[in-house]
Amino acid sequence: MKRRDFVKGLGAGSLVATSTMLASCSNADTAAGDKQAVTKPATKKIKWKMVTTWPRNFPVLGTGANLLAEMITKMSAGRLTVKVYGSKELVPAKGVFDSVSKGAAQMGHGAAYYWKSRSETFQFFSAVPFGLTAQEMNGWMYYGGGMDLWRRAYEKYNLIPLAAGNTGTQMGGWFNKEINSLADLKGLKMRIPGLGGEVLKRAGGIPVNLAGGELLTALSTGNIDATEWVGPYNDLAFGLHKQAKYYYYPGWHEPGTTLEVIINKKAFEKLPVDLQEIVKNAAKAVNMDMLSEYMAKNNQALQELVGKHKVNIKKFPDDVLKKLKLLSDQVVSELAEKDAFSKEVFTSFKHYRDNVIAWNDISEKAFISARSQ
Ligand code: CA
Repeated sequence: MKRRDFVKGLGAGSLVATSTMLASCSNADTAAGDKQAVTKPATKKIKWKMVTTWPRNFPVLGTGANLLAEMITKMSAGRLTVKVYGSKELVPAKGVFDSVSKGAAQMGHGAAYYWKSRSETFQFFSAVPFGLTAQEMNGWMYYGGGMDLWRRAYEKYNLIPLAAGNTGTQMGGWFNKEINSLADLKGLKMRIPGLGGEVLKRAGGIPVNLAGGELLTALSTGNIDATEWVGPYNDLAFGLHKQAKYYYYPGWHEPGTTLEVIINKKAFEKLPVDLQEIVKNAAKAVNMDMLSEYMAKNNQALQELVGKHKVNIKKFPDDVLKKLKLLSDQVVSELAEKDAFSKEVFTSFKHYRDNVIAWNDISEKAFISARSQ
């Protein structure tokens, strides 16, 4: 009995002791918490604007930008909220870079090749004809030196870039005549922007730059003979199959286009470290998420284009691709001659590409061809 009472007493005593300890801990925490609220900006609510180059809620590209904003808001428990603006809502698509550079908006979503008028070298950070696939791009960016070069490229514009989405390998485009030889590209008016357009020009074609929303009309009026856009999912949504007979592959000009989020450098540096990490990791999550969405939805849309709309899917002839690759190599290596920094970017990209081709030849490429046998 006595022993039991003693144990009981001890139990009660230790409970009292424990609750006293808890109480003191909790007091200490509260005191520290109060101090933190006064001295650190971590609990201050910060509001950012994200301008984008896409129409609001545009499938995958626009909705991916929305997802990025939602993730940042939720991951920070509302300490950093991001409001998304579609193109033309605050600034037109082409105004995104300047808007974030000046700090009118803190973030922007688009792709580096849209800003090639500032530097042709920016195009390495989005898509290079016969360049890198999505997974290869991610390897170069995160572990091959690409990200550091990209940061240096944007530094003087007061911008920090992050990879924030990838389309995967695009389609070659919609044509109203068959492409059986290089001669069929001569005089061909095709909507194809960036370096791919320059390559088409050297092959004798006429590259045209049009916004996505204008493509269907331009095809139907004969203003253009052909157009590329993204891939089955986005192309089906635009109805391009209604105005073109042949859907060619592969998208040699955009083998794995990286989308970007640009962040005003001063705004980013003002964030506490945990919010900076949230922004960086939300971008990384969206980078993967968009690619996954494209992979799933492109193959569904391809089934619909072929099964329901009876679209004629064709591969560019090998000799046409071979010639386009030669021209692409010329166009891309000329970029290296612009200045010392361009040469550094080109050298890094080329070195990585040569090595990754050797590895992929005996890994993914070998597996995919073995699987198709
Ligand atoms: Ca494209």
